[in-house]
Amino acid sequence: MASSPSQVPVGVDPNRPSIARVYDGFLGGKDHYEVDRVVMRKINEAVPEAVDIARGNRGFLNRACRFLANQTDLAQYLDCGSGLPTAENTHQIVQRANPEAMVVYVDNDPVVLAHGRALLEENDFVHMTEADIFEPSEVLGNAVVQRHLDFSEPLVLLHVGTLHHYEGDGAADVMRAYIDALPSGSYVVFSHFFDPEVPELTEVAKRIENILVNGPMGAGRFRTHAEIMAMLDGLELIKPNALSEPGLAVCDEWWPDGPRLAPLSLAARCIVGGVGRKP
Ligand code: SAM
Repeated sequence: MASSPSQVPVGVDPNRPSIARVYDGFLGGKDHYEVDRVVMRKINEAVPEAVDIARGNRGFLNRACRFLANQTDLAQYLDCGSGLPTAENTHQIVQRANPEAMVVYVDNDPVVLAHGRALLEENDFVHMTEADIFEPSEVLGNAVVQRHLDFSEPLVLLHVGTLHHYEGDGAADVMRAYIDALPSGSYVVFSHFFDPEVPELTEVAKRIENILVNGPMGAGRFRTHAEIMAMLDGLELIKPNALSEPGLAVCDEWWPDGPRLAPLSLAARCIVGGVGRKP
């Protein structure tokens, strides 16, 4: 992306890295500035296989959407912190199964909002709106959300790769407010940076966390299993693969597409995902 001031979209600060652009850079996208590449280089120097975290997360999101679109009759999706459009986005996946599945994307990054609106102009069943996803009442009361999603019918809430960017101790309260607002039979798709509490893995997680938290992004927490489960209170998590009990799994191990031919990197083990149903 050009970083000349005249070409910078309105509302974008090209001197501050953005979560959305750094993540998109790791996924191979082109929408990043030099400030974002500085963060990416620091992370790559600290943990060369850090890209596996972004890829694992996006693969989980795609498989979870495919699962819900094909195996439930839910036709409303609220995707919080949707990120920059990449090859396979929520609406493309779920609308393959049901072309009239309604998808509302929420983000607060001006580049995401600009790209998202352009991409979605042609489709009446996709909408993008601006809100702070860490303020559930702002999202739930948002006019676009209210207009296009019916909270008296079950829906799918996605909070994928988002809450680890929430600083402080209130992440469980944020998710509780969302889960409380969902009608029975709704599903939640969730992923989060993970501290596996195994010394060699925690060490990898902490190296990335230090760069994110102490750098200009100021956020990116690797939380423990107990801390992440506290955010999913009130949900019945489904089995994450054929071998495991219901619960969370490393994103790459959540119903993978096939057998694993090479071992997962240490970094890949530092992000978990889960899908839960509200009873
Ligand atoms: N959900 C997508 C995925 O998993 O592929 C994108 C995840 S990306 C790591 C996190 C997204 O959350 C970014 O697009 C960022 O702009 C958005 N985000 C972070 N904090 C936010 C906030 N307070 N309000 C709205 N969006 C936010």
